[in-house]
Amino acid sequence: MKPPICSICGIDFRANPGSGQLVRFYQPEPEPKLDRPGHPKNAEWFCVIHQGPAVALESLSIKEAEPRIRKTSIQRTLSLFIGTSVLSGLMALGGLLVGGFFGGTLGLFVGTIAGGTSGVIASGLIAAALDFLPRPVVPSSIVGGALGFLMAAALAIGGSTSFNSALIPLAGSLFIGCGFLLGRRHAARRLAMESE
Ligand SMILES: [Zn+2]
Repeated sequence: MKPPICSICGIDFRANPGSGQLVRFYQPEPEPKLDRPGHPKNAEWFCVIHQGPAVALESLSIKEAEPRIRKTSIQRTLSLFIGTSVLSGLMALGGLLVGGFFGGTLGLFVGTIAGGTSGVIASGLIAAALDFLPRPVVPSSIVGGALGFLMAAALAIGGSTSFNSALIPLAGSLFIGCGFLLGRRHAARRLAMESE
């Protein structure tokens, strides 16, 4: 039997095999009997992030399924990046406008931070509801996105003597997308290391 290492991203979850899954795909012809127990040819390991797309395609043979799982994984990653960046950026912009309405630099700042942070949380919950993000990695993804956003805000404030608050939602959105995906990866790795 092969060790539990994700065939898509290479995450090694030998310490916690239950964090991922061994998926058995369709086997067109019966496997010849082996003298020693080997790894079944139609089975492959997938980590917490990639087990969903893999299970969805288990009725295909492994040869047909693998390129599709890779494609779905790339599409999901891109969708998460774009969706999270756009939604959080727009909500930060909304917060900026509301904050500006109440006036002052503090109003702008608080509005932007509140809007962007709410956007990151909403993104994580929507992604989970759409099954684009496995539930165990949702909190870390949200924290990663929020940290990315705060980093962008800090850079925007620190980098200009005259505080240009409109920069925060714009630059922040890209930092949010990156932070969100880094958080997802971090959670998958941490889960893989946890012994049961
Ligand atoms: Zn994986």
